[in-house]
Amino acid sequence: MTVTASNTSSVHKLHSDLKSSLIMMVDDEPIMMELVQAFLEGEGYSKFLTLEDSTIALQTMKERRPDVLLLDLNMPVVDGFDILRSLRASAEFSRLPIIVLTANSDSASKLKALELGATDFLAKPVDPSELALRLQNTLSMKTYHEQLIYFDALTGLPNRRMFVDRLKWVLERGKQTEATVVLVNINLDNFKKINQSMGMLAGDAVLQQFSESLLAQVHNQSLIESDDDSDIRFSLYRLGSAEFTLLLPAIEDATTIKRSIHAVNTALAKPVVVGQHVFKMTASTGIAISAAGEVEADDLIGRATDATLVASESGGNCVRLFSEEIRALSKQRMELEIDLRNAVANGQMRLYYQPKVAADTLVVIGMEALLRWHHPTRGVVSPGVFIPLAEELDLMPSLGEWVIFEACRQLAEWSSRGMQDVKLAINVSQQQLGDERIIESLSRALDKYEVSPSSLVIEITESLAMGDSDFILDLLNQIRELGIRLSIDDFGTGYSSLSHLAQLPIHELKIDQSFLLGPQDTLKMTVIIKTIIAMAHSMNLTVVAEGVETAEHLELLRRERCDIIQGFYFSKPLPADEFFKYFNGWGSHDIQLDL
Ligand code: C2E
Ligand code: CA
Ligand code: CA
Repeated sequence: MTVTASNTSSVHKLHSDLKSSLIMMVDDEPIMMELVQAFLEGEGYSKFLTLEDSTIALQTMKERRPDVLLLDLNMPVVDGFDILRSLRASAEFSRLPIIVLTANSDSASKLKALELGATDFLAKPVDPSELALRLQNTLSMKTYHEQLIYFDALTGLPNRRMFVDRLKWVLERGKQTEATVVLVNINLDNFKKINQSMGMLAGDAVLQQFSESLLAQVHNQSLIESDDDSDIRFSLYRLGSAEFTLLLPAIEDATTIKRSIHAVNTALAKPVVVGQHVFKMTASTGIAISAAGEVEADDLIGRATDATLVASESGGNCVRLFSEEIRALSKQRMELEIDLRNAVANGQMRLYYQPKVAADTLVVIGMEALLRWHHPTRGVVSPGVFIPLAEELDLMPSLGEWVIFEACRQLAEWSSRGMQDVKLAINVSQQQLGDERIIESLSRALDKYEVSPSSLVIEITESLAMGDSDFILDLLNQIRELGIRLSIDDFGTGYSSLSHLAQLPIHELKIDQSFLLGPQDTLKMTVIIKTIIAMAHSMNLTVVAEGVETAEHLELLRRERCDIIQGFYFSKPLPADEFFKYFNGWGSHDIQLDL
């Protein structure tokens, strides 16, 4: 037998490099193959695989994966028809272009070959010009088809389908050489937020720029699969919306992994520019390493995504290496996800209420509704944990709607029991402000429980309110037109300009608790609080301070004429019945003040 081939094998070819396609020939007459090869070399083709022994054709193809097969029909033992039949029955080669070579006069064989799935046929003796044309057309068709199904239109990178295909092959091939295969899975943090707040086109631009930078770094760091430069496209894939993966098929030592992390970090360091906005992206990166023979493709992919999930869980902007511990953490998080999806239906969500107190009289003038998740085994889960998860899972709109209805129901119930003249504050999240459903929910809830709109306050965070979208401004105006008050939460943490603030239809500012509770020195803190209060008053806004924990805090805020106080000094958020008692003076602790 003769198996000759130049260079490395290739799986899929791009239009531009048809000439580097691996052309395989199976024929019992070596002289025929030599002639064809010599002619095609003259036409610029460079990679050939010629095989006399048709009995090992299938096995050889699995190892080498040609781009096209020139197949003789008449051969001893295993003929061309047998090979055609088994190729078309295999998943790997069901679509491989196959040009059969047959005697011109033999139309029965031609028909049979076409029926068995031959792509095209050529009459023997082969006419060189006809061969060149048929080969080129066949390869172009193949490339076009592959471009559609194996490449991502937005970034031009190969897609998940190609990735899985390639990984399976890498693992199979690596078994013999005991290669170490590494996946570096990269997921851009908070990509959804960019899409939601700035639109899909901005999101697309971010992905394009990032993938370009990353590809350039992959090149710089020589993370390409072989010395064959065209193989760079098998190193980096786009797997999902903001998910990319580097496939390192045979690493020699840890420096390759270091270089890949360096490539990712350097790509991330380059700011992304969309219109007038400049973004600094971060990513959660998960790495899985395995010997080729020890793991299936699905499993290795699962390990890399588990590690990515845990990286993103721990706040993003970091790298995690897969381990059994990571697997356990990721499983826990999956369970949490499933539980969260059912939490409202299972009656596990509760609203707690924290009193808001007038600074001058210390009378309770309202409350803020704060979500708590009573998990059957984990106990009370804090919103800091489950709200980001709910946002990621798109559960926030419906969870937020539940909050609005539950809060109104509770207010009506309290009102029927004599609690009057209080204002109930409800937090809304970015996702809830993403569409107009919130307006409808609010008016339906007000109607249903006969609650006066003026007794509701909607709190939105400063960063959300400052997003420069007309849509948000319009939505805030609609909320105000319903007669509901608006409050800017966590004020001082965003970057609002005064002029923008003045345009917003708001009634209230809540000074972020970090000013009272953060590590700053007292003098600085006092100056900042003083300034915010003075500024807010000059704009006719009510000022609320939250995170009031000590008598000193309270004293400072009263001195600076803050209007409303909220914090542990008065009370933690309480379940509804306890809040009712607190309101009626049964549960409050005595507060000593020098008035
Ligand atoms: P937030 O709106 O800024 O709520 C104030 C948070 O500060 C609450 O945390 C509250 O328990 C806590 N807090 C109040 N007084 C003090 C104090 O004196 N000292 C300290 N250290 N903390 C104090 P919580 O309840 O864990 O809520 C955290 C965040 O979760 C909220 O921050 C809000 O952004 C979000 N959240 C809570 N409930 C909802 C909801 O129903 N919808 C939405 N969209 N977000 C919610
Ligand atoms: Ca709030
Ligand atoms: Ca706040």
